[in-house]
Amino acid sequence: MAGIILDGNKIAGDIRREVAVEAAALTAGGRRPGLAVVLVGHNPASEIYVRGKVKCCEELGIYSEKVTPPATASTEALLAVVEGLNQRDEIDGILVQLPLPPQVNAKKVLMAVDPAKDVDGFHPMNVGLLSTQRPGLVPCTPAGILEILRRSAIPIAGQDAVVVGRSDIVGKPTAMLLTNANATVTICHSKTRDLPGVCRRADILIAAIGRAGMITREFVKSGATVIDVGMNQVTERAEFDRLFKGNAKREETFRTKGSTLVGDVHPHVLEVAGAITPVPGGVGPLTIAMLMVNTVKAAKMRRGIVEPELSRA
Ligand code: NAP
Repeated sequence: MAGIILDGNKIAGDIRREVAVEAAALTAGGRRPGLAVVLVGHNPASEIYVRGKVKCCEELGIYSEKVTPPATASTEALLAVVEGLNQRDEIDGILVQLPLPPQVNAKKVLMAVDPAKDVDGFHPMNVGLLSTQRPGLVPCTPAGILEILRRSAIPIAGQDAVVVGRSDIVGKPTAMLLTNANATVTICHSKTRDLPGVCRRADILIAAIGRAGMITREFVKSGATVIDVGMNQVTERAEFDRLFKGNAKREETFRTKGSTLVGDVHPHVLEVAGAITPVPGGVGPLTIAMLMVNTVKAAKMRRGIVEPELSRA
């Protein structure tokens, strides 16, 4: 029997409505939440992402500001931009869109963001707060994964969770959130022995690898919940056939656009999983929604309105 599809668009929509209510309440109290996005140069993909973030702010009643230094900007120039935003009280969140140009020391720039305004949750201070279960700002994609699980009433406490991928942006913070939520967590990576065998132990399997359809049926215990974080463009016909042969809708997209988006999980896994996030329409929509959550959370934390449950996600 096919698993349940976990609808990320619906969950993200619910979260966005909740954020809009909170943003309106803060605005009514004279403190509209504000997000500044720093977009350096003209990377087309980054421009699309930033447009989406700014549009989402507008829809939810959050003030947004785009700062656009030139592609030639130096590390010092960007540090000055960040410092200026750190000082401005009406800016609650600062997001430096990655990647930065090669001449820029990206780590130095990210470290300069005030941890209280670090809505990406990448600053070591926020990483430390998460790992010690203190209130802080949690990276958006991992926080979104936990929202999908909780809002779909998937049990976490006591469950075996396996996270494939150990990046600072997705794998590690997701593992930390699952640990904080009382799962028994295993983190896997490219050196893990018998990856399919380890994954088959999972009640909850998180794939954050960046390899199209790598997680096949053999990796998945019957009935497991599978969260597919991967976003990969398939452009080769042979690879397309391995993943989507016989899928008329995908065939149409592939023929007209020359590519199609696929996660790290093979579509056939739907037949063994108990529940699964699709790509697109699974984890992706949660990432922007959680950026909005973080902006409102930062606004509240900066005003001393700290919620006890903040440390969980
Ligand atoms: P990353 O920094 O490249 O990390 C990939 C991880 O996968 C690494 O830990 C790597 O292991 C592991 N890995 C690679 N090949 C493997 C293999 N054959 N077997 C086992 N582990 C393997 O990627 P990321 O930033 O975490 O992103 C992962 C995926 O999520 C990408 O497709 C990305 O586009 C997507 N993503 C989606 C969203 C969203 O909003 N939906 C947000 C962020 C990222 P090592 O550490 O040993 O190298």
